[in-house]
Amino acid sequence: MNEKMKELGTRRSAIRELFEYGKKRKAEIGDENVYDFSIGNPSVPAPEIVRETLVNLLTKTDPVALHGYTSAQGDAKVRAAIADYLNKTYGAGVDSNLIYLTVGAAASLTVSLTALLNPGDEVVLLAPFFPEYRVFVERTGAKVVTVPADPETFQPDMDALQEAITERTRVLLVNSPNNPTGAVLSEQTVKKIAALLCEKQKNYGTAIWLIADEPYRELVWGDVKVPYLTNYYDRTIVCYSFSKSLSLPGERIGYLLVSPKSKDAADVYAAVCGAGRALGFVCAPSLFQYLIPACLGKTSDLSVYAGNRELLVQALTAYGFRVISPDGAFYLFVQSPEPDANAFCERAKGLELLLVPSDSFGCPGYVRISYCVSTDMIRRSLPAFEKLAASYGLPT
Ligand code: PLP
Repeated sequence: MNEKMKELGTRRSAIRELFEYGKKRKAEIGDENVYDFSIGNPSVPAPEIVRETLVNLLTKTDPVALHGYTSAQGDAKVRAAIADYLNKTYGAGVDSNLIYLTVGAAASLTVSLTALLNPGDEVVLLAPFFPEYRVFVERTGAKVVTVPADPETFQPDMDALQEAITERTRVLLVNSPNNPTGAVLSEQTVKKIAALLCEKQKNYGTAIWLIADEPYRELVWGDVKVPYLTNYYDRTIVCYSFSKSLSLPGERIGYLLVSPKSKDAADVYAAVCGAGRALGFVCAPSLFQYLIPACLGKTSDLSVYAGNRELLVQALTAYGFRVISPDGAFYLFVQSPEPDANAFCERAKGLELLLVPSDSFGCPGYVRISYCVSTDMIRRSLPAFEKLAASYGLPT
């Protein structure tokens, strides 16, 4: 067998480990007594349009066509609808012939990275980052290079980024709104990143791709805007998913797109199709492909997450925790009151609070709190957070 795969299958991610612990603990002491903030599984139901469209599809469409294979890159009408929506909404300048439907953002990423990378190449990740990125990159034989964030703003440290990009860099992978901090890359930062990549490409005579992982694009709070990256840098691949915006993570539907503004777009798209083939994806689930046109621009009721965010930020700050106030996604990044976030999480576990330590996000000393949970659970968990803060003697 492949020892590396065995290791991946044996050693779960910190998030999955805690999620499984939570299930066990709930069976022991009751669901209502465990405050599980471990995983990004949306708690708000999918909007009604999802059920209506699925019922329509199931009752009014020829079942043979509905459940059959589609083109490997996805149904042409569905891709056209996506391109139309992105061009109208963001002026993204995308082409439906460069869109590829996938089983969620995870597959969009593995397909893109497989399409672009060869062993020995380097991929730059901005810490903190979604831990699976490391798994997705390393299986191609490429190497991860990490760049820290500014600890105040959680925007990337531009000097460190400038140093991290070498002749071997093939990809800069960014995630905005960010898991685990909720930070959104500002337009100013995006412009700086684009200018830096252009300069490095020119100096080295190489091609550097910007991969934008955007499953949280619609989850932003206040008047925060998420720049659409094809408008700033030509060699861009956008990886999108309906898992979070429509609360459909188990259905596995998303897409990637290669920006037509890049002169090598056609070749890279061919490599994307090849990667999808080599990875055995065949096509994205047809029923959920056909759902997409009716749901573009629609979301679940995101106000629930906005309310949860308010509630947690206010309460945790009042208890004395240092909270990174998130602009988007549904995660709160909180500084551990002791240097070892794992020890802090173990103490939290004693109060039945399940928080994810940040080490595997490439930024030790913090915890991630997923607030895509029920507001009721958050309210019931607050006394435990207060006790946790008091046990460290935090100033209130
Ligand atoms: N990228 C980030 C940053 C995520 O947080 C997640 C899931 O939590 C994914 C990708 C994978 O999402 P999907 O369910 O669309 O595969």
